[in-house]
Amino acid sequence: MSVSALYLHVPFCARKCLYCDFASWATRAGDELVVSYERALERQVADLAEAGLLGDVETAYVGGGTPSLLGERLVDLVECVGDAASPAELTCEANPESLGDDLLSSLDASCCTRLSLGIQSTSDDELALLGRAHDGRGALDRLSAACRTGLDVSCDLMCATPGQTDESWSRSLADVLACGVSHVSVYPLQIEEGTAFDRIYDEAPFNDEDVAAARMEAAAGVLVAAGMHRYEVASYARPGRECRHNRAYWEGREYLGLGTSGSGMVHREAYGRLRALCPQLPALRAGDWRVRLTVRTSRRDIAAGCGLSELAFDLEVLDEAQAAAEDLMLAARLAAGMGEALLARGRRVLGGALDEALGTAIDQGLLEEQGERLVPTGRGWLLGNELYGLLWGLAPGSVRELSV
Ligand code: SF4
Repeated sequence: MSVSALYLHVPFCARKCLYCDFASWATRAGDELVVSYERALERQVADLAEAGLLGDVETAYVGGGTPSLLGERLVDLVECVGDAASPAELTCEANPESLGDDLLSSLDASCCTRLSLGIQSTSDDELALLGRAHDGRGALDRLSAACRTGLDVSCDLMCATPGQTDESWSRSLADVLACGVSHVSVYPLQIEEGTAFDRIYDEAPFNDEDVAAARMEAAAGVLVAAGMHRYEVASYARPGRECRHNRAYWEGREYLGLGTSGSGMVHREAYGRLRALCPQLPALRAGDWRVRLTVRTSRRDIAAGCGLSELAFDLEVLDEAQAAAEDLMLAARLAAGMGEALLARGRRVLGGALDEALGTAIDQGLLEEQGERLVPTGRGWLLGNELYGLLWGLAPGSVRELSV
């Protein structure tokens, strides 16, 4: 059995944004480390394919970091994934400062089908306060150029950031829509521990819950009025342009991740196949149902040629009840919510506690019935942590964590 999605992590960026806690390091574009890392990823993809783990892959995603920093090497990586897995959807993340016309045309001519640009804002002042490597004009120039290709184009925008006002937020939304994007993801800034923002801002009134909620609501109004639909709490798309890859995460389908901090989620059978390539992975115990794996190996060790059998992983092992609770929680992010089959499985595995939790969520206005489905309400999305906490709270015991 193969997984249905493949993720590749490219941990290099032109500079480190001040709010960023992703696995990414400021690196020069032509650095030998970048070149060796890309080659190593190609070899690992080929090894997975040879073992039959990529035969049913429907989507692939090259994320980061800043994959466009690889330049033409990104096209090599994309072609390698195309040869190994022939995904119907293949997304590359890119940032404006490293998405030149040549790279755009090469990606357009390759088996890449989708580009996701990190824009965050179109205001120069806000971008400077975020520590981004591009300005507003550069962002819009590259976004427009991407939209003129045959690729599906998405962009990320961030709200509740320093210096942002209701007006500048509306302007950023209008600016990216005017470029012709078919998909927009919107997120409130999270000030994460250990980031530069965490050190800079003792207090962050620009980032308070009410500001974030109002900006997310404003985005919903603008993007829906422009003909997009909100299919996930943070994702808007024109009809048929939803990100299939991200849906796989929220729909509990199996995926693998390569590259430093790349994550995967597999069930017993695919885990068994992966173990044949990675004997360092421990055998599962009776009752183990799902494994979440994150590659711990550093970018330098990967670039030095560390193969699949030498990768270090962090593992989380879930039993069937924990996996059922997780699937319900992830489904609550989606506009389509929880269907009959998911609810029936949840009732079988979690018993009466599920209906009690669902009843509480309905009483609190977080979920509502829509035919046979239970879907999140606007309030449910706004108070996402309460809704997701209620569903994840059904998971018995604690998830087993180990590192190899
Ligand atoms: S471009 Fe993205 S991954 Fe890179 S430092 Fe900025 S936020 Fe982090």
